[in-house]
Amino acid sequence: TADVAVQSVRQTFNTFTALHRIDLEIAAGEFVVLLGPSGCGKTTLLSILGGFLTPTEGRVLIGGRDMTHVAPKDRPTTTMFQDYALFPHMSLRDNVAFGPRMRGSGRGDRNRRAEEMLALVGLADKAGRRPHELSGGQRQRVALARALAVDPDVLLLDEPLGALDLKLRRQMQEELKAIQRKVGTTFVHVTHDQEEAMAIADRIVVMNEGRIEDLGTPQKIYLEPRSLFSAGFMGEVNRIPVRPAGQGAESALGPLALTTDKPGTLCLRPENVGLKGSLALGPARLTDAAFFGTYHRCHFTPVAAPDMQIVAHLPLGDLPETGAEVALWGTNPMILEA
Ligand code: ADP
Ligand code: MG
Repeated sequence: TADVAVQSVRQTFNTFTALHRIDLEIAAGEFVVLLGPSGCGKTTLLSILGGFLTPTEGRVLIGGRDMTHVAPKDRPTTTMFQDYALFPHMSLRDNVAFGPRMRGSGRGDRNRRAEEMLALVGLADKAGRRPHELSGGQRQRVALARALAVDPDVLLLDEPLGALDLKLRRQMQEELKAIQRKVGTTFVHVTHDQEEAMAIADRIVVMNEGRIEDLGTPQKIYLEPRSLFSAGFMGEVNRIPVRPAGQGAESALGPLALTTDKPGTLCLRPENVGLKGSLALGPARLTDAAFFGTYHRCHFTPVAAPDMQIVAHLPLGDLPETGAEVALWGTNPMILEA
């Protein structure tokens, strides 16, 4: 396992800047997720870590050594792509032993290694099978076993679960995290799915348009996002424009007991809006509600701003009648730059 440092990395393609000036430090053994919408530069950054792309500017250090100009095969990294092509004519054992074999490992050693890795991913009893005999999730596990068989210091994963259906994906996320904990390898994992990022990451790097927008533990980014983009990408959020007025703030809902020194956006997660709280949002009418098992998902229209809609997740048992007017409250208000 090794630490990774990205220093002032810029990547341009002709006149287009894909990465602006990325600085990022990843600790040895950390599970880091690069999260962001399609086209924000995740694959570009991962390719630079893996050596498939030499950055226009800047450096990449792995385990303290400058790897910027080192070829992929000479780096202590392995990259696992989404279309993890397994060799169809080979047994799982031979698929997983392939990397060690290329590195000159003898038959006995590499077969032992392959069986150890297949056991790690829960496929010890299938070493003699061929890939076509497996389910999608099992093939995914073989690809992981194959990537780990050469014992990389850093494993780079580009949307590895993207092809799986939702239920299997959630299950594989838990397995991936458990396996990472067991082997202790540094994982850098790319996804555009914020739930996946929250499920597996020690730290999330939120990217947008070639820049790092936010960085921290899942809790940190969810509860204290650094930007409006980060707040919205990590989960649903109600946005209410506010500006300073006297001791408090003014908004479309009327005056609010908030202190802000410049215009901004009050952000409230749906679970932080309800019939009690610390911040009075004024009277509002319940327009509709849906039962979601552990809460009611409700739409409210503020009396002072009939064009606005506020989403609230109310605890079970707390549901007013549709059409009723209630006093709406917020908790954990976040004020972010407009
Ligand atoms: P992501 O993986 O986050 O979806 P990418 O890193 O693949 O995004 O791409 C970031 C941006 O850089 C996109 O706008 C993409 O079109 C552009 N890009 C990526 N690779 C190249 C390339 N080889 N040549 C030109 N543009 C590229
Ligand atoms: Mg990509």
